[in-house]
Amino acid sequence: MNNRMFYLILLSIVLGIAGGIFLPEHMIAIRWIGTLFINLLKLIALPLIFSALVGAITSIGNTKRLGSIGTYTICYVLASVSFAVIIGLVLLNVFKPGVGLPPQLILANAAATHTKTLDFSSFLLTLFPPNIVAAAAKFEIMPIVFFSIVFSIACISVGESAKPVMNLFNGLRDIFVKMIIWLMHLTPIGLFSLLGSAIAEAALQKRLMESVRGMLLFIVVFMLGLFLQCLWQFAILRYINRKNSSDFIRHAGNPMLTAFVTSSSIATLPVALIAAKQIKITDEVGRFVLPFSTTINLAGTAMYEAVSTLFFCQILGMHLSIMAQLGIFLTSIVAGMGATGIPEGGLVTMIMVLRSANVPTSALVLLLPFDRILDRFRTMVNVWGSLVCAATVDYLSTGKKSQSVANLHPIYLAEKEDVAMATNSGSGT
Ligand code: ASP
Repeated sequence: MNNRMFYLILLSIVLGIAGGIFLPEHMIAIRWIGTLFINLLKLIALPLIFSALVGAITSIGNTKRLGSIGTYTICYVLASVSFAVIIGLVLLNVFKPGVGLPPQLILANAAATHTKTLDFSSFLLTLFPPNIVAAAAKFEIMPIVFFSIVFSIACISVGESAKPVMNLFNGLRDIFVKMIIWLMHLTPIGLFSLLGSAIAEAALQKRLMESVRGMLLFIVVFMLGLFLQCLWQFAILRYINRKNSSDFIRHAGNPMLTAFVTSSSIATLPVALIAAKQIKITDEVGRFVLPFSTTINLAGTAMYEAVSTLFFCQILGMHLSIMAQLGIFLTSIVAGMGATGIPEGGLVTMIMVLRSANVPTSALVLLLPFDRILDRFRTMVNVWGSLVCAATVDYLSTGKKSQSVANLHPIYLAEKEDVAMATNSGSGT
């Protein structure tokens, strides 16, 4: 985030709070601006996830000749993202930061609330809807994911004549990424309206301090989750890969810092590739694993999606069964993968997870003031995860790698401009 944006967000928080307390009617009258902002986020979320997933899966197909390297990478990514989400959900269940917070914080801006119960059969039925367009209109993420997977596999098996379609989806993803970067410039205005109108609800003013305490506990719990995610990967590095861990940390420092400054895994990729060389990860592994992992191994983001959704459910007093939490687990993994490694991509794709858990999207107002700073930390964890992933795959595939890598993911070949924009919009220095 550049300094101007940072100050604008601070200003919008101060003005939103002041407006909500001193000019409540006016703030409620301009609530539609915040609704418009959320509508724009929703507008992009679904096509972004669809095109990002199709792009990622078809790129696996293009590089399938990498054999064991590809298989190890996919296994590591799935395990790492799953662990991240599990850590987050366990911590939220233990600390329950949302319990006791006023539900009006979320409901003040909600158009309508849903009370559908999430049981196993309804969860399964939503996976296989009779009409994919109707499912998309209802923001149901899992059918879209199943559809994207089958669609991508079909593209790969059709082969040459499906190439234009695959290119089309890669192009669409790049376009949606750019739209999000533009949209993020409107965050201060959306935040001002959403925060101000939420605070304008008289009941909220009394419980504001209580809410702030709850938010702080949520942030501490999330940061603890990120720390634990780094820790288990550090243990893999030290005890399984038997890498020189102090050397690894020293070289990983630069990409981690870049991740913090840019809030973008994609913008950090060139620096991560250099670090991989210094850590002595084989070129062939680094050049395939890092771009691929940067696109979908967003463990910090997936954890964020899960803990935020569960936090909102706790605020709303929704009792979630294990099955319902399994639904959050699955959708968070997918939404994390769809966030594409750009600043605040996770905030956009979170809409899908919220919808799947029947949480009103107005809940995002609670995150908006903190999202930019939290984004920096989860991006660092994403980048750390990609480096450990590359080191682990390198270790596992030693002696089995002999083929060359030609098909790098287009996202880091053709997006110099987007990366530059991501860096600009995310740069804090
Ligand atoms: N900014 C994150 C990344 O680039 C994605 C997100 O969590 O919003 O990895």
